[in-house]
Order: sequence, then C-alpha cells, then structure tokens
Amino acid sequence: MMVSSIENILDAKTLSLVFENIDTAVFIGNLSRQIVAMNTAAEDLFGYKKEELIGQSTQVLYSKPSDFNKQGTYRFNAESNLVDDSYSMDYRNKADKTFKGQTTAGAIKDNLGNTLFFVVMIKDESSRLAAEGALNKLHTITSSRSLDFTQRVDEILKLGTEHFGLPIGIFSKVVDDEYVVQQAIHPDGALDSGMTFDLGITYCWHVYQSNDVQGFHHVSQSTIVSHPCYQSFKLEAYLGTPIFVDGARYGTLNFSSPEPTRPFIRQDFELIRLFAEWIGHEIARNNDLLELKNAHQQMRILADTDALTGLPNRGCTERVMNQYLNRVKGSASRRKLACALFDFDYFKSINDNYGHHIGDEVLKLFAQSVQIGCRDDDHYGRWGGEEFLAIFPDKSAEDVLPILQRLKKEMYGRPIRSKGEVIVPTFSIGLTDCQGDSINEVLKRVDGLLYKAKDNGRDRIEVG
Ligand code: GH3
Ligand code: MG
Ligand code: MG
Repeated sequence: MMVSSIENILDAKTLSLVFENIDTAVFIGNLSRQIVAMNTAAEDLFGYKKEELIGQSTQVLYSKPSDFNKQGTYRFNAESNLVDDSYSMDYRNKADKTFKGQTTAGAIKDNLGNTLFFVVMIKDESSRLAAEGALNKLHTITSSRSLDFTQRVDEILKLGTEHFGLPIGIFSKVVDDEYVVQQAIHPDGALDSGMTFDLGITYCWHVYQSNDVQGFHHVSQSTIVSHPCYQSFKLEAYLGTPIFVDGARYGTLNFSSPEPTRPFIRQDFELIRLFAEWIGHEIARNNDLLELKNAHQQMRILADTDALTGLPNRGCTERVMNQYLNRVKGSASRRKLACALFDFDYFKSINDNYGHHIGDEVLKLFAQSVQIGCRDDDHYGRWGGEEFLAIFPDKSAEDVLPILQRLKKEMYGRPIRSKGEVIVPTFSIGLTDCQGDSINEVLKRVDGLLYKAKDNGRDRIEVG
C-alpha cells in the first residue's frame, strides 16, 4: 500500500498551517518517527528552527532515549490504537535544558483506518509545576505550629522572592496615605520594619488605585515609566496585591526587583493573591485572639477585685500570700516576709449612727490611703467585712511598723463629715513575721494579735 505517502493523501505542510497560529507546540511525525511538520510555538518551546528539525528523528526531543523507545513500542507505531491520549513527558530543548511537558498525542488516519502520521501537542508544565510547588510550600509554612505569625510572614516573603524571582519582598500596612513597612526582605538589608513612605511614591499606589493585583515586569519600557517610584528607586519589576482584613483594606504584599523580569502570568497573580489572603486571615485571627486575651484579662481582674474598694479580694489575697510564703520557703537565705490583719474599731456603731453608706465611705477611704502609701510589692487586700490583710515581701514586722503608723496618721487626717459631726475612724492591727509558716499558722497568729489589740484598747498595733 502506498497510502503512507504524504503527497498521495495529505500535504504535511498544508496540514501544519492548521496548527501554525495556536500557542501550543505541535509536531507531526511520520511512521518512521521523523518530524515532518511543526509550528512556531514548537520552535519557541524547543529552541530549534523548523529547518533544523524537519526530517530529524523525534528522539532529539526526548530527555531520555529509553522514553523515546518506550513511546515507539507503546504509542507511535502503525498498530497502536491510542487516540487523544494525554501524558507527562521529560523533554530536552536545544539549550540542553530538560522540562516536563503535558502531552496529547494521536494518530492521523486515512479513511481505511491506516495510520499516516502522528500529531503531538506539548505544553510546557514548568510554570504550573513551579506554582504547585510554591502552593505546597505555602501550605507547609501556614500549617507549621512551630512558627509564629512574624516567622510565617518571613517565610512567605522568602518563598515569594524565590518563586517570582524578585529579590525584594515587603509586607506593608497603609494608613491614610502612609505606607509603613511591617516586614521586609531586601538583599542589602535596606528595608526595616517601621520605615515609612508616602504611598504615592510606591508602586503599591497602583494596587490601591485598582484595588487588585498589579504587575509590571519591565517598568522602563512600560506606560508607568514616569511614576515617582521608578524615578526614586529605579525598580524595573513589581508584583503587588492588596491585603484585606475582615473585608477592610489593610496594606499590601509586594515583590520587586531593580532588574526587569519575564512577563507575569495568571498563576503569578493567583499565587500572590493567595499569599495575601493568608496574611489577611492571620491578622484577623490575631486581632480576635488579642480581643479575647484582653477580655480574659479584664475578667481575671474583675474576678480578683473587690467591687466596693477596688482592692484585691480575699481569693486573690490568699493566692498572693501563698506565693510569697512558698517563695520564702524556697529561698536559701530565708527572705523576710511580714503580714498584717486590720479590723476597724466599733464599725457597727458607725453603720448604726451614720448609715451603711458612711461605713462604705470609710472602707473606700482606707483603700485610697493604702493605695497612696503602698509600695509596688506590698499587697493590701480586703479580707472580708471591714477587715483587710496586708503582705509585705522582703520586710520584717519591725520594718513594717513605721509604715502602718504612717497609715494610721493618714486615716486620722481624712475625717468624714456626717450629720454635722466629724467621724475619725480608727482600726486595730495584728502584725507578724511569717518565715517558714503555713498560711493557716500565719492567719491564726495575726488574728490572735488583732484580738490582743482590741483587748488592749483598740486603735493600736500588736506585733508578735
Ligand atoms: P470591733 O471594734 O470589735 O471590731 O467592733 P465592730 O463593731 O467593728 O465589730 P465587727 O468587726 O464584728 O463588726 C463588723 C461590722 O462591719 C459588721 C457589719 O455590719 C459591718 N460591715 C461589714 N461589711 C460591711 C460593708 O461592706 N459595708 C458596711 N458599711 N459595713 C460593713
Ligand atoms: Mg470585723
Ligand atoms: Mg471591727
């Protein structure tokens, strides 16, 4: 049969016109696996001119001879019945660089079903595979538990600079027209967090104008060559995107280079958008966590505070006392620690004579007085009713005595007026050293001393 003669059935050159203007590389091979036609996209992908390849064995296109042989046995022979089959193959271009190509191949047959030619379409997969690799890395970074937010953003900036081939990476916050660097990667370390620029002189201005990703791969040959950013920083390539936090614009993520680069493709835009989405989500999550933490802190403060006086309450005071007692026990040098219990004198009669609200005023006044004279480490808490307990770390009872005497004087100097009378509330105090004691031992002792002060006439301090 002479059906495989090109001239008899089809003219491969005419056939190739069908493929000439599509951007996928197309080769037509004969049954001897020689290239009989190819398009310009194939020239671009493999780096050969048509004249160099027409008539050559397709083996020249393969990275490995074994693949060429396998494909011959399996697919490219007169008996093969594979139609429109897709597969990935390692190819080699003229510059000896290998790449993965997504390939679709099929036979061209005559009306008797005899194979005349094979047609093979190849798409370079490098950029898709690189994008897939970058996505996998992004996933690894964002799901890593060992990195905190700043470290993750740093990793994303590194990933972006590598993937896009743009050595400068910036995560910025934009407030009004001010562009503030939050984190940055720069080959010469020229950018630090906190650095501020006028938004108008950065390429991010374009991102803000369009509210979307912007890419310029060769600024000096583009319409934005007159932009102040090019004039000031001579950056030839830029890829940037807005970052949104809870729907509001927060800032930008951008990568740039003083050198021009390849034209950006859709995958670049999608990838940088994903990076920015992740950063936006993380900022929102951090904000939520911060609010939650503040709320917890507020609740903790409320739970530890006495509502009337604003002093720490009994629960908090007990906790603090235990901490100090343990610290004293644990210290080799036996640090000093003193404790005092206060109880107002004849408080019932203040309530009875002037009203409960005046009694409350007295308690608040006491709290104000201790807050004025209280050193940071000293702890005064409301123990219950009109009783207060104070703990004095690194002080002995002897050191504390003058402090308490001053406090008494302070209270004498703040009389309360009611029903035209002047009330000068007084209190009694039991004061003790508490080295090596348990909390119960200290409380028992200080309580005994307080009663002694009451018994001995009130408005006095008993030390023991
Ligand atoms: P003493 O000198 O023996 O301590 O006499 P006292 O009257 O102070 O006796 P006691 O300490 O037993 O009395 C405590 C009184 O304090 C009883 C209670 O009505 C009053 N009290 C307790 N808590 C409050 C409070 O929050 N506000 C007011 N206004 N009074 C309170
Ligand atoms: Mg009492
Ligand atoms: Mg009392």
